[in-house]
Amino acid sequence: MELAGKIALVTGAGSGIGRASALKLAAAGADIAALSNDADEVDAVAGDIEALGRKVLPLVADVSNPKEMEAAFTRTNQVLGGLNILHANAGINGVWAPIEDFDVKDWDRVHAVNSRGTFLSVHHAIPLMREAGGGSIVITSSINGTKSFTYVGASAYGATKMGQISFTKMAAVELARYKIRVNAVCPGGINTNIETTTIKQNLEKVALNIQHPEGEIPLTGGNPGSAEDVAELVLFLASERSKHITGTPIYIDGAQSLVT
Ligand code: NAD
Repeated sequence: MELAGKIALVTGAGSGIGRASALKLAAAGADIAALSNDADEVDAVAGDIEALGRKVLPLVADVSNPKEMEAAFTRTNQVLGGLNILHANAGINGVWAPIEDFDVKDWDRVHAVNSRGTFLSVHHAIPLMREAGGGSIVITSSINGTKSFTYVGASAYGATKMGQISFTKMAAVELARYKIRVNAVCPGGINTNIETTTIKQNLEKVALNIQHPEGEIPLTGGNPGSAEDVAELVLFLASERSKHITGTPIYIDGAQSLVT
């Protein structure tokens, strides 16, 4: 119970990596504000967190919406009594398409959720963490767009994921004075629902002819990692065990980014 007495807010907590992280942090003793824009998902994960014996605040909000995010953090403070840990995780693949065909609205939506959503989460966490005397922020980036550049069509997504790395480092320097640490996790392929909401358009126009006969993920013979694998890393970064780590992207990909 190394997070006993701590309060954590997880965005995108209803599915995949965020859900696994919310459950992992709760199992380690933290009370959880579980945020996503899908009310059914939030209700389901809230029930699972309660079953672990922790307090949970279900929050339905779009991470790109400034008013909804301000309200979510205010409620977290009022109901749970502060904030020590933020996992800014909500994100979408959105549209993958050739740059010459990319619609500006689709480009902006990926940036609104992944970039603005990360900014708004950190922006509202700072005053609560300052009040608490410090905190730990973990941002879910990716190998895609930061270390691996072969997913042609994912240029909007990749730009936001590289942007999150820059933001992580800038924030780590700026917030060190408040004892707030900021790190990024960069997963490779992980078994979640993200593919079901990915919209792929005209990708055959820009496909790369690369073959991976042994599979793209050397450590697992091609099998993706699990959301729980990533949640273990989030727990480490949220805990005092990582107290001297800040401004650091950590790759968790079974060596996928070394071959793709
Ligand atoms: P997922 O689709 O399973 O879960 C995403 C969660 O975010 C869901 O709860 C969804 O409701 C929520 N969400 C989406 N848009 C939102 C919005 N506008 N406001 C609030 N909540 C919103 O996907 P996942 O794979 O768990 O993705 C989580 C993060 O991991 C993303 O940032 C993604 O870029 C990153 N990531 C995933 C993989 C992978 O292979 N799955 C790899 C690298 C990085």
